[in-house]
Amino acid sequence: MTDILNYINGGWVAPIGRKFFDNVDPARGEVYSRVPDSDERDVAAAVQAAQVAFPAWSAMPVQQRANLLLKVADLIDRDLELLSRAESQDQGKPVKLARVMDIPRASANLRFFATGIIHFSSEAHATDNEAINYTLRTPVGVVGCISPWNLPLYLFTWKIAPALAAGCTVVAKPSELTPMTAYLFSKLCAEAGLPPGVLNIVHGMGSRAGQAIVENPDIAAISFTGGTVTGKKIAATAAPMFKKLSLELGGKNPNLVFADCDFEMAVKTSVAAAFTNQGEICLCGSRIFVERPLFDRFAAEFVRQTQEMVVGDPMSNQTRLGALVSEGHLEKVLSYIELARQEGGKILTGGKRVKLATHPNGFFVEPTVITGLSHTCRTNQEEIFGPVVTLVPFDSEEDAVEMANSTPYGLAATVWTENLKRAHRVAGQIKSGIVWVNCWLLRDLRTPFGGMKQSGVGREGGWEALRFFTEAKNVCIKLK
Ligand code: NDP
Repeated sequence: MTDILNYINGGWVAPIGRKFFDNVDPARGEVYSRVPDSDERDVAAAVQAAQVAFPAWSAMPVQQRANLLLKVADLIDRDLELLSRAESQDQGKPVKLARVMDIPRASANLRFFATGIIHFSSEAHATDNEAINYTLRTPVGVVGCISPWNLPLYLFTWKIAPALAAGCTVVAKPSELTPMTAYLFSKLCAEAGLPPGVLNIVHGMGSRAGQAIVENPDIAAISFTGGTVTGKKIAATAAPMFKKLSLELGGKNPNLVFADCDFEMAVKTSVAAAFTNQGEICLCGSRIFVERPLFDRFAAEFVRQTQEMVVGDPMSNQTRLGALVSEGHLEKVLSYIELARQEGGKILTGGKRVKLATHPNGFFVEPTVITGLSHTCRTNQEEIFGPVVTLVPFDSEEDAVEMANSTPYGLAATVWTENLKRAHRVAGQIKSGIVWVNCWLLRDLRTPFGGMKQSGVGREGGWEALRFFTEAKNVCIKLK
């Protein structure tokens, strides 16, 4: 049984309180490692190490800093198989998905920001003939990065990479449910020669270790990805301390299918958007609105393709849906299916827990498609974050937009139409940070990423992330 350790000041240490908790393999429902139950003392040690490391790291020539991060990226690629298997065992996702998405995107994050920082520039303004103004961008200092369990290493590096590239030093906490790849990542950082204290990883509960990061007065900025309720708590804690905050929160994303769409592509991609990673991606399209003339045909084909998806051992290459991340999450998802029944929903397929002969205690759920619900009911308003989607018909473009915008969330949306004018019109009216037209999860790391309404505050990605981790300072020089 592996004991995961905190990574502080370049070394691996047990938590000061000596307490650990169990880490469960969700496909087997069995404990397979232990996680440090860190508290504010561990966070304080990590912050101190990060403070000591900050002057040298922030002053290091940018190319040298970039080279170190590129080396970490190469080591991730070298360990692709090891990291993919670790991610799959820890999270429950199909190893195949970790191999093609999570782990390659983790190294891509490091490469993107390592090379991006070399091109990062700031503005200068000639103020008539009187003065020259220029903007200095300096790293904000020690920052906290807190990430969720659904795409563990992918989202962990999505925060850490721009922070380190910008010259900040970091205290990071992965989700208590999925700490393993962050632990393995700490070893790669050490192997790459990242100086001690530049990156510190404190494992533990959000309510204790996470909260201690947010409360620590020497942490200047918090980059957080997770649920909206946690985000509210973090914002309330950080606001009186005037910390910089970037919050990437939940979603209840609409998928609008117009009758003039490319039918084959729309169905196939909508199924992927619904169930990839067991529906545990903040960008999954969980509310599918279909124009009425196409509704029955779309529903029949959507259900047929859903039924073809294999729920199984995450380590098998045939598996499309693995296990949900935890027993608690399994119960939450099943309770939403029950709620949908109570609200009058008709389950077209799925709806039950799956007991695999080889994994009788795993947290598997059938991909579930529900119809017959109003867009205003709880099932269609609250984030389920599992393999559960609803199909709702609409009669006009106005209805579709209204239904799409009817939740407190505004993270992502997809629009299926071959009508270019309609695509522009609808994309402009939907209140969300991302609108995909005739595609889903097509990501370019240069684009701004984030949500409107209760899906977040601020944007990550591209220059936005580098701006977040730096302070802008205006220097004004009088010329006369
Ligand atoms: P949580 O909000 O439960 O947790 C996210 C992280 O915050 C975890 O590391 C958690 O630790 C930590 N945390 C919990 N409480 C606190 C606290 N009081 N102070 C500081 N940190 C805390 O989210 P989940 O892990 O359940 O992730 C799922 C959610 O993330 C979904 O709502 C999903 O939509 C959202 N998400 C958003 C994305 C986006 O880009 N907008 C992308 C991916 C997911 P611990 O796990 O130990 O409790």
